[in-house]
Amino acid sequence: MCVIFACLHERLFLNLMSRRWLAMYCAQMLVGDISIEPVHDGTAVLATDLFVNSDWTDHQHLLDSQGALTIPVGAFLVRNGDHLALLDAGVGDVHNDMFDGGKMLDSLRSLGAEPDQIDTIIVSHLHPDHMGWLAVDGDITFTNATVHIGAADWAHFVDEGNGGRRIAANLRSVEEHVELVHDDGVALLPGMTTRMTPGHTPGHMSTVISSGNERLIVLGDALHCPAQLTELEWEFLYDVDAALARKTRAALVEEASQPNTALLPCHFAGMQAARLVPVGDAAPQWVFS
Ligand SMILES: [Zn+2]
Repeated sequence: MCVIFACLHERLFLNLMSRRWLAMYCAQMLVGDISIEPVHDGTAVLATDLFVNSDWTDHQHLLDSQGALTIPVGAFLVRNGDHLALLDAGVGDVHNDMFDGGKMLDSLRSLGAEPDQIDTIIVSHLHPDHMGWLAVDGDITFTNATVHIGAADWAHFVDEGNGGRRIAANLRSVEEHVELVHDDGVALLPGMTTRMTPGHTPGHMSTVISSGNERLIVLGDALHCPAQLTELEWEFLYDVDAALARKTRAALVEEASQPNTALLPCHFAGMQAARLVPVGDAAPQWVFS
């Protein structure tokens, strides 16, 4: 029985519908017995010129009335046997020109989870909107969690300080909870393994959730918006290695053409997943649910 993306309350939103449903969130996805739920923290506004080489003519439906891209920020709560895990850790109580966050802990509690119940956190990369709640002013939020981070990101952002002193200092405050990941295929929880997806950042790491022949690849910022599913030559201004990020994106999109495989970026409208669905004799179509 195919249960991947048994989104219980919403399903099959086409690309054309995505902006209208920005504020609505897929209630739950299932891969086997593993449950994945979006945890809303807020929004971010991206100017289209952050997407280098982009032409938005065919993607106007993704833009707001100001011609910008408003995207959700947050995390995913995973219930896996006795484990309660987070994939990414939101932006935090941050309000500036780009980010409007602060809702994550309330969202988490609305899903029945307290911060101290989280035992595992897998951080896709160390940009501020994916690790914002790990520590607040040096105080650890998820006191009982092991935090898995790509080793190359730790080296880049903490050891080398490329994200700035404040980010490095904040991450140092959770250091004793951190376990660095170096390789693909590391099993962090049952049915959940690492996949290095570098380019956006050096140690950018996705999580592959599997059950039987079903796979959900939770991929952080390897993709920022649905247009990148088809516009493979676009680059993103904040990609540390733009050419490598392009190559990584192309490989993930190609992988999604395999049966029972879906992609779950962090920032797609409604924090929904994308999958390719056959349409008769026509080309397969991306659907979001
Ligand atoms: Zn992000």
